[in-house]
Amino acid sequence: MIAIAVEEPGKLAIRQDTIVQPKQDEILVRVCRAGICGSDVHILEGSNPFAQYPRIIGHEIAGRVEALGPDAGGFSIGDAVVIDPVVSCGNCYPCRIGRHNVCAQIAVLGVHRDGGFRSYFTVPAANVVQVSNDLDLGIAALAEPFSIAANVLSRTGCGPNDSVLVYGAGPIGLTVLQVAKLKGARCIVADIDKSRLDGALGFGADGVVHATPGAVEKAVAGETDGLGPTVVVDATGVPALLSEAVALASPAGRIGLLGFSEVPASVVQKHIVGKEISIFGSRLNRKLLPEVIGWLESGELQPADMIRNTFAATEAEQAFAMIRNDPSSTIKVQLEF
Ligand code: MN
Repeated sequence: MIAIAVEEPGKLAIRQDTIVQPKQDEILVRVCRAGICGSDVHILEGSNPFAQYPRIIGHEIAGRVEALGPDAGGFSIGDAVVIDPVVSCGNCYPCRIGRHNVCAQIAVLGVHRDGGFRSYFTVPAANVVQVSNDLDLGIAALAEPFSIAANVLSRTGCGPNDSVLVYGAGPIGLTVLQVAKLKGARCIVADIDKSRLDGALGFGADGVVHATPGAVEKAVAGETDGLGPTVVVDATGVPALLSEAVALASPAGRIGLLGFSEVPASVVQKHIVGKEISIFGSRLNRKLLPEVIGWLESGELQPADMIRNTFAATEAEQAFAMIRNDPSSTIKVQLEF
């Protein structure tokens, strides 16, 4: 079997590896499709603060059950599955209140522990989620990126009365757009890259804004009877957008943040207090994959259009080069194992 590892920042390697049999409550998964995430690129570039090296990367994984550990029940050999990359302790305060995605001992497969860019890997049974055998495994491998959108919009709340502004029309912005539309909201997408905005229109955006200075504030001013968007999601990770978001959000508006920047943002408190704005951080997902898989299986989303390029796993180097050299034409690049 092969495994794709980042040996040290900048150094991607395809290793020959051996198949490890599953322990007590583990499942051996044969990986079929795996999506490349921006965070995989960051680990390769050495800019992911959580990564340790060497690391087998990959956390957007769909495959089939190959073998079960003695205590791993509920699955049969050959079942189609996806992996929830969030491993949590189950005992700490956040775990006890259902927020295991911010577990005090969190380990993310592909970041803190070896991930799924390999022909076979063993996963705790609690992190294996079954999908219908009819679901295309490329689409199944989009469950994790869609779970990012599911989590942030569950944090902010999102429904038919909402007007959502999404900053960023990259892969995560486009999943937020699609989930917002699924929940019946209006959704406007802003980006500095015009070609990405065409993509957002294709995924059902009610409006798009080319984000030149001042343009976003102007474009969304008429939302919600002139009050502004009720939900703002930053899928760019640009800290300065927070000050714009609190200024343009509607009274009682909610802001969802997905970026990990350590750069401070200056925010005017009057906007937050005067309009009772709520600001939510959103990390990974809190056991939302079953819900997301329901959406993917129902055909309510347009996931197939997200997958622009698929490479054989042995061509991982070319796949990463494509994402780094031409980020605006790729949405989701997947590897086939
Ligand atoms: Mn991802």
